[in-house]
Amino acid sequence: MSTASTTAYVLRGVRPYGTDPVDVVLADGVIAAIGAAGTVDVPEGATELAAGDGPGLVLLPGLVDLHTHLREPGREDAETVFSGTRAAAAGGFTAVHAMANTTPTQDTAGVVEQVYRLGQEAGWVDVHPVGAVTVGLGGEKLAELGAMADSAARVRVFSDDGKCVHDPVLMRRALEYVKAFDGVVAQHAQEPRLTEGAQMNEGVVSAQIGLTGWPAVAEESIIARDVLLAEHVGSRLHVCHLSTAGSVEIIRWAKGRGIDVTAEVTPHHLVLTDDLARDYDPVFKVNPPLRTAKDVEAVREGLADGTIDIVATDHAPHPVEDKDCEWSSAAFGMTGLETALSVVQQTMVDTGRMTWADVARVLSENPSRIGRITQSQGRPVAVGEPANLTLVDPDAIRAIDGRTQVTASDNTPFAGMELPGRVVATFLRGRATVLDGTVVDGTVIDDKNLEGATR
Ligand SMILES: [Zn+2]
Repeated sequence: MSTASTTAYVLRGVRPYGTDPVDVVLADGVIAAIGAAGTVDVPEGATELAAGDGPGLVLLPGLVDLHTHLREPGREDAETVFSGTRAAAAGGFTAVHAMANTTPTQDTAGVVEQVYRLGQEAGWVDVHPVGAVTVGLGGEKLAELGAMADSAARVRVFSDDGKCVHDPVLMRRALEYVKAFDGVVAQHAQEPRLTEGAQMNEGVVSAQIGLTGWPAVAEESIIARDVLLAEHVGSRLHVCHLSTAGSVEIIRWAKGRGIDVTAEVTPHHLVLTDDLARDYDPVFKVNPPLRTAKDVEAVREGLADGTIDIVATDHAPHPVEDKDCEWSSAAFGMTGLETALSVVQQTMVDTGRMTWADVARVLSENPSRIGRITQSQGRPVAVGEPANLTLVDPDAIRAIDGRTQVTASDNTPFAGMELPGRVVATFLRGRATVLDGTVVDGTVIDDKNLEGATR
């Protein structure tokens, strides 16, 4: 598969984690050398990437997404494993966890292995399928968690994402079951009765524009219940896309008590608010909904102080007919793989709240730890480590346009906005998947998959 992995690269004057400039040599799939300019041996024929003028490009461990919807099998009109992982590479990712709400559902060893193999064939990033907690996401019967864990896909993250595991007995059983193989249940916290017919955040804006509200307590009550269940059974819980100030407080309390819980926030919840619903543009319709400025401030604070462990994209591509319609009938969700790093830079780095080392922690190290893939991903930028790397130009400014993104769907909430930062290169085990800000097509890809690359 990785026929081109023997190519060597020398990255001139790059700044690991934003520190002082060094030269970094990639060869044979690993980081072969790091040192001051002129002090490292450069293999003959190595491709040179120079930083150019300015303070220099930032070198980070390859990004890892714990929450991606690749839509295949079943909704290949929205995204495929090929197009979604190609978009991931463009966004600086070297691994993604593919959510289970496909058709058929990723609730058996057979389906998770299918997605895993599609990821290997595409070759853009490592694809780690998430297993469903319940059969068909039906919320009634536990899926074959053990069989998925033992499969070739080696599933460690289980989630009914899109739906909440709302039955407390089932949730308890799932938490107990995954302990056997060091798995984690990733909960989409949404109390179903409190959110019947809900269209957006419940608050001032929903009252003014007349859309059914989705109260913060519908998220917080499930999180509160689940951290207590996790404590009770001594298991590991991960909370997907938390979005309210109250949720941050509950996680902070639970961690203070020693409960083994981790939490994620999406890029969009770090910056967008429910004010954007005023024009009824469904591109801003998402689950959980965009909240208030106070919530945005709370999730930023939670991310900065470590209460929230990771940023996960919740990349949720939809075809135009599912988004370009009335708000009430539009699908929930937004794309995110190609803008996540820029949003984190804008909201956390450029505001002085986080360093680039912190970015590596929340977008690479912690997600790989939660997903139990630390043998291959989220590794330090150090000699001998696998060359899974992202090279970023933090001084670039990009105008975002959904139609020119790599993902097969157009539903980016950042369309028409300018965001800082640009992924210049991405390396997967030393092979460039992105160079000069452009995905590198045709190096290792099967012909049948190349057809899927065109939109
Ligand atoms: Zn979700």
